[in-house]
Amino acid sequence: MLGSLRQEAHHTSVIYSPCYFKSGELYPKKIIITKLDIILKKFGELMRDFRNVVFLLIIAVFLLQMFVLKQDAKLAQEKEQIKPTVALSTFSLYDIAKNISNDTIDLVMILPFGVDAHSFEPTPKLMAKIMQSDIVVYSGAGLEPWTHSFEFKNKVIDMSKHVKLLNSEHGSCNHEDHDHHHHEGHEEEVDPHYWLDIQNMISATQIITDEISKLSTQNEELYRRNAKNYISELEMIDAEYRKRLTSCKKETIIVNHNAFSYLSQNYGFKVEALSGLSPDAQPDAQNMLKLIEHVKEHDLSVVFFESFVSDKAMKSIAAEAKVNVDVLQPLGNITADEAQKKLSYKDIMLENLEKITKALECE
Ligand SMILES: [Zn+2]
Repeated sequence: MLGSLRQEAHHTSVIYSPCYFKSGELYPKKIIITKLDIILKKFGELMRDFRNVVFLLIIAVFLLQMFVLKQDAKLAQEKEQIKPTVALSTFSLYDIAKNISNDTIDLVMILPFGVDAHSFEPTPKLMAKIMQSDIVVYSGAGLEPWTHSFEFKNKVIDMSKHVKLLNSEHGSCNHEDHDHHHHEGHEEEVDPHYWLDIQNMISATQIITDEISKLSTQNEELYRRNAKNYISELEMIDAEYRKRLTSCKKETIIVNHNAFSYLSQNYGFKVEALSGLSPDAQPDAQNMLKLIEHVKEHDLSVVFFESFVSDKAMKSIAAEAKVNVDVLQPLGNITADEAQKKLSYKDIMLENLEKITKALECE
């Protein structure tokens, strides 16, 4: 269409112009110019339209290409990002999975940093994340009330079923006041802080290694190797505790809640706790008095509190008994500050050992 128009325009200029110049009056000048004008104008308009169309087409092709490239990049990225997901509920279990999986697995730490392991309830958003995980490992033994009503979709492991549990009778003198914790049924008698026992940590490491090896078979060799290293680190911690706590002048540490029975049982010291197996929001005045008496009587130099619950009661005990206060970490969770410092289970266990050694005045 455009070709014929261009021809017409060409025709006009070649045929009509000579007619005018040669025979003068054959076509009036005005008419010829007007006709020529109209045709040239039309042609110009069309050329402009044509340029616009070509320009738009180029832009469209360019945009399409960009879109295709972007989609490709997105797909490649998605392909790369698909890792199996494992959700874990306490810091100690998370530390195991982190060390074994070496970034081959997306780990979801169920407890946000800085919250108390005993009283935590996941938000709906976190619940959805837990539900989508390929494996959920929870601590069990009454620590997580939310698991009772939770509809698990994929593989679930209650780690407390794979470890040796202590009854609450061990370790503390304060078992007469159990009634205030959230534990249900006969679980109330079981001490949920089993991750402070190195043999239990080794058992948990083996379970987690087996499970993630099934999840990502191509990495099994890596997982087994990492597990071996991790277990020898755990054994090193155990050996260190045994060595450092062999001969001590004092026999008791004073803590906020009764989380350290596994340590006291394994390494031969005693624990007096302000509250039972779960930290108490309302400290018992009678218990406080008893602890102050104990500190004075045994000439202790420090009482311990923990980061996630109020330190008010322990601080007033310390003030009353004129002793120091320090943090002892029960390791169910860590604080945001500890997370920022990238402290591991091992780091915190050894920090705790340092403080216990000092409190018990060990050689
Ligand atoms: Zn606890």
